[in-house]
Amino acid sequence: MPIKAALTERSNGCCELCSSTNDLSIFEVPPVKEPNSDKSVLVCSTCSEQIAKTAEMDNNHWRCLNDSMWSQVPAVQVTAFRMLTRLSKAGEGWAQDLLDMMYMEDEQKAWADYGVAADEIEEVAPTRDSNGTVLVAGDNVTLIKDLEVKGANFTAKRGTPVRNISLTDNPEHIEGRVNGVRIVLLTTYLKKMPLFEDK
Ligand SMILES: [Zn+2]
Repeated sequence: MPIKAALTERSNGCCELCSSTNDLSIFEVPPVKEPNSDKSVLVCSTCSEQIAKTAEMDNNHWRCLNDSMWSQVPAVQVTAFRMLTRLSKAGEGWAQDLLDMMYMEDEQKAWADYGVAADEIEEVAPTRDSNGTVLVAGDNVTLIKDLEVKGANFTAKRGTPVRNISLTDNPEHIEGRVNGVRIVLLTTYLKKMPLFEDK
């Protein structure tokens, strides 16, 4: 089943965070190697823009997490945890109260923490692509020019996608897998792929 159809069935056609039916799209909860419905949530445009930080955070909107944090879907729980952490850091005591009530299995907690750590790195020394867009761990990027991969003896063509990147200590470098080889890439040769894929 296509991801969007699976998510629509799982969510009854509502945003899995706030229940809105407006402008729903797929949000892949990083890190995602192979997109699938277990790693994705269906979100409305209000939620998606604030998750991606393209819109200012409306703290009160996220009161919806009071309900959705109890979802049985791990990807929804993980997203709720990450957003509650942001809200708690922004001084929302109720968000911390909800976090204190949340329970996740170890594997899921590690998944949630991954996003929290990415948020922290982003605040200190953001890694940006060639357009100045902030890159976070788990993002998908494409090459904007042909790159000779020294040592591996091949040329990675312009347009090649690199999924699920890792950040490094250097904001001008990321790591990713090209042709099955894990390499360091210069961020000036990369462009971030849209986070929300409407499939
Ligand atoms: Zn929503």
